[in-house]
Amino acid sequence: MTSPILPGATVGVLGSGQLGRMFALAARRLGYRVHTFSPDTDTPTGQIADREVVAEYDDLDAVRDFARHVGVVTFEFENVPAETAAVVAQVVPVRPGGEVLHVAQNRLREKTFLARHGIPCAPFRHVTSREGLYTALKEIGAPAILKTAGFGYDGKGQARISRADEAGPAWEALGGSECVLEGLIDFGSEVSVVAARGADGEFAHYGLIENHHVGGILDVSQCPPDFGGGGAALEAEAAAITRAVFEALDVVGVLCVEFFVTRDGRLLVNEIAPRPHNSGHLTLNAHSTSQFEQQLRAVCGLPLGSAARLRPAAMANLLGDLWANGTPDWAAALAFPAVSLHLYGKEEARPGRKMGHLTALADTPAEAASQVRAARGAL
Ligand code: AMP
Repeated sequence: MTSPILPGATVGVLGSGQLGRMFALAARRLGYRVHTFSPDTDTPTGQIADREVVAEYDDLDAVRDFARHVGVVTFEFENVPAETAAVVAQVVPVRPGGEVLHVAQNRLREKTFLARHGIPCAPFRHVTSREGLYTALKEIGAPAILKTAGFGYDGKGQARISRADEAGPAWEALGGSECVLEGLIDFGSEVSVVAARGADGEFAHYGLIENHHVGGILDVSQCPPDFGGGGAALEAEAAAITRAVFEALDVVGVLCVEFFVTRDGRLLVNEIAPRPHNSGHLTLNAHSTSQFEQQLRAVCGLPLGSAARLRPAAMANLLGDLWANGTPDWAAALAFPAVSLHLYGKEEARPGRKMGHLTALADTPAEAASQVRAARGAL
């Protein structure tokens, strides 16, 4: 194994959002320097990094120069072009590797990968034309959900199809691009597993996190879920599937697998994200080692930290909508002693934009969820 990249060295991050910011905070705490690369200025990551490189992802000379000044590169945004990762990899290690990005940034490749490895997911069909959509809908059956193959996140690039006559408008709405048609799953709940794998294959996961979405965007997460007696078996199975994904893609770093839990208790993978995940933000407060420190340790070739949960926790996202009537009343949320506030340094609060989050720790996950919702309500 190659020697680890030790504190004092510089780590590079492709992308400059909140995931990079929290990664950079962890890295600086451990004595690393951080460089970030993205087309934007005064970014959430750039505000914390030692150096903010501003260039387009396809400016390969700038990418090469960025790579020359760091010891390893990771990413916080998976829609970086494959060629960018390839150019970096000529200079320094990229972790996780470019193939992981390639699979995760396209739903069709992702679903095909899952199916090929026998990992359960919603039934799907590849759709490239309106006629193809009609055929796929007959095979899958309505209700179904049409998703663009590339560049989708937070429910963007999706259209539900409840009846056959909605297929045409759905195809138009997504711009007639390459799509995946998925069967709509009547799930009982949604859960995720955030995990890390080191350069030597060491594996650590944070257990099941239960997620509630509103309008396709994560709203509240809690850990552990309230599954009662069946929770342990479900968690073991979800962790085994997650580990299989890491092994199949040879991931070094952090990755999240999002699942549907069907009403009869089966796990189906919805999607994979090859980086720290919004549902794992509560690890900053609730676990021995956060997902961001874990990412740092993994990509630097260091031993992973303990992923043990210290207390039940819940996280609530703060979207730009909260700014509709001016700056939220931060003091009101901070008056809840069990609640911590995380803001991402974003200037412009647009509806649906993730501006920050709140985390609460309590004796039970239900109590943590109620605290975090109450604190957000007080804003
Ligand atoms: P995604 O961007 O694919 O993660 O989708 C965002 C959210 O839409 C998911 O977290 C689900 O709540 C919902 N969703 C996506 N795909 C499906 C599906 N096949 N069946 C039911 N709900 C879905």
